[in-house]
Amino acid sequence: MNRTELVDCHTHTTFSDGKSTLEENMRAAIQGGLTTIACTDHWGKPAFIDCSIEKDKLDVYADAVKAVQDQFPELTIIYGIEADWYDGCESDLVPLRSSIPFMLGSIHYLEEKSIDWDQDMRIWDEYGADGVWKRYADQWCKAATSGLFDSMAHPDLPRLFSTEGYAPTIDLNPLWDAMAEAAREGNVHVEINTAGLIKPFKDFYPCTDLLRRFAHAEVPLTVGSDAHSASRIGSNILDAYCYAYQMGYRSIDVPTKDGSWRSIRLENLTQ
Ligand SMILES: [Zn+2]
Ligand SMILES: [Zn+2]
Repeated sequence: MNRTELVDCHTHTTFSDGKSTLEENMRAAIQGGLTTIACTDHWGKPAFIDCSIEKDKLDVYADAVKAVQDQFPELTIIYGIEADWYDGCESDLVPLRSSIPFMLGSIHYLEEKSIDWDQDMRIWDEYGADGVWKRYADQWCKAATSGLFDSMAHPDLPRLFSTEGYAPTIDLNPLWDAMAEAAREGNVHVEINTAGLIKPFKDFYPCTDLLRRFAHAEVPLTVGSDAHSASRIGSNILDAYCYAYQMGYRSIDVPTKDGSWRSIRLENLTQ
């Protein structure tokens, strides 16, 4: 099964909070046998989103991606961003849409407070895990139906602290149903993100119950490592394909340089 094409559609560099340069990531991608890599550094304008590309440097980032596209013609390098959903983001993101072929959508903040940074647990302590999940799912559905994003990254991000004393007590299934319906209605992709495997809960985003619902709703997939260093570029991508297959998917989608999509057929990787 090593003939299956490997791609990584979620990666970070020193332009945002990654540790490696674009060039280091591209070399790692080639070394790892990837055919496509999407550069998706964080983007978000408000000051509370402090891990993103500097506000006046988006064109510098775009030029740097163009430079590695020229430098590494053997690799398909997609210019993208991981854009945060926040109040008023539409006015910041709509003007960018036509110039950015691949836009991941993420919710890392609720009410301007981080939900995935262990140094700032204010939102968790304020609302508790149940309250965070409800608010997160509500915002997620709005983002998924906004038409702004190509794929929704790490769809069940609040799982991050689920083994650290912040597990929800409510039944999440109604939230999963709403999210699957929103993704279908919004005609957006969702992402299998392999970075969860190195978090304390040690699993993919999204969990099986949610991914099954996305599959049932025929919501297409992208796959990414969310690498913040070159050493993680392409990590567990084949495992993600297996996971997708087990949950009922028979293909994953890959963005192209012109903003359209192509598909990779998944074989039965479990045999
Ligand atoms: Zn993210
Ligand atoms: Zn990311």
